[in-house]
Amino acid sequence: MRSLVLAGRKNGALDPATLNAVTAATRVGAEIDLLVVGSEGADLDAVLRDAAGICGISKLLCATAAHYADPSPENVAALLVGLASGYTHLFAPATAFWKSALPRAAALLDVAPISDIVAVESPEIFVRPVHAASALMRVRSLDPVKLLTVRPTAFEAAPSGSAGSKNALFERIPAAGDLAMSRIVSRAAGEEGCSGRPDLSTARAVVSGGRGLGSAENYRRLLVPLADCLGAALGATRAAVDGGFASSEMQVGQTGKIVAPDLYVAVGLSGAIQHLVGMKDSRFIVAINKDAEAPIFQVADCGLVADVFDALPELTEALRKKLNDCL
Ligand SMILES: Cc1cc2nc3c(=O)[nH]c(=O)nc-3n(C[C@H](O)[C@H](O)[C@H](O)COP(=O)(O)OP(=O)(O)OC[C@H]3O[C@@H](n4cnc5c(N)ncnc54)[C@H](O)[C@@H]3O)c2cc1C
Repeated sequence: MRSLVLAGRKNGALDPATLNAVTAATRVGAEIDLLVVGSEGADLDAVLRDAAGICGISKLLCATAAHYADPSPENVAALLVGLASGYTHLFAPATAFWKSALPRAAALLDVAPISDIVAVESPEIFVRPVHAASALMRVRSLDPVKLLTVRPTAFEAAPSGSAGSKNALFERIPAAGDLAMSRIVSRAAGEEGCSGRPDLSTARAVVSGGRGLGSAENYRRLLVPLADCLGAALGATRAAVDGGFASSEMQVGQTGKIVAPDLYVAVGLSGAIQHLVGMKDSRFIVAINKDAEAPIFQVADCGLVADVFDALPELTEALRKKLNDCL
């Protein structure tokens, strides 16, 4: 058995979700290689430096080509098809890119991709949520190579840093040709990226708002000061996104991001099942809602039945005072 972990890239560095995929791979108990795909340049050097620091990696593979600068899922899938025969397992973080690339590779290899796993029970048995996480499915795969995406919040990050995988071999591997089926024309950072806040998927604290906030103006006026106080990322329900209060990359839930911060503050949102699946694994949940029967209170560790327009400014002010007193 041998596993290959597929590294993600984010803002010119290794996507931290890669570390969670490495932990999932360790559960199989086989040797682990890590693949980095990119084009020559400072960004690739930074990713390779980060990757070389991950503990438990036997071999660091690197495929470079001009068409991997901002790679298309089709081109990366073609590369994986060429590599797959050397591995029993391919693990990738369940990010938008790998959710697109991995099933393509699986189709080309004629195996079944297994998406969004939350546990590895054995080299053949994996657990994944189904029906908006209201049930867990145990999947047994007999495919010769298993292609899996890993839900990052379900696994600890593998240790990394200067004490990392110093003994990992470095190997350059040939790139696959450019299929030229699609190309990225441009990228635009949304509000979340521009504001310099922590990344929503990996933030230690998240302040999320729902329809109860009433408008985009209220969302910003009430939530931004609280998020600033806590050093938190901003999140939103789908209703808040549909209402134009927040941009779509800030949506938490079944069709948004899955988060599991230390602190999740849910403001003026009901706690619909599709939202809960995205945040219920948070370590400490605070809910503020004027309806005592709102389902969010069933998962909250601390609940405040109050009108957000009264409670939130008061709470933010009290927090700010407390922080100032501590400084
Ligand atoms: C296939 C599918 C996928 C979906 N995916 C997602 C997803 O990824 N993420 C997601 O969030 N939703 C998702 N949804 C939508 C989901 O079902 C809910 O509609 C949505 O989460 C509700 O958002 P909300 O809690 O903001 O709004 P509401 O359910 O309308 O709740 C608003 C809450 O605000 C409270 N409130 C109102 N005014 C105040 C006030 N002044 N002070 C305090 N509290 C107040 C109310 O009591 C109420 O509980 C999905 C739905 C479907 C069908």
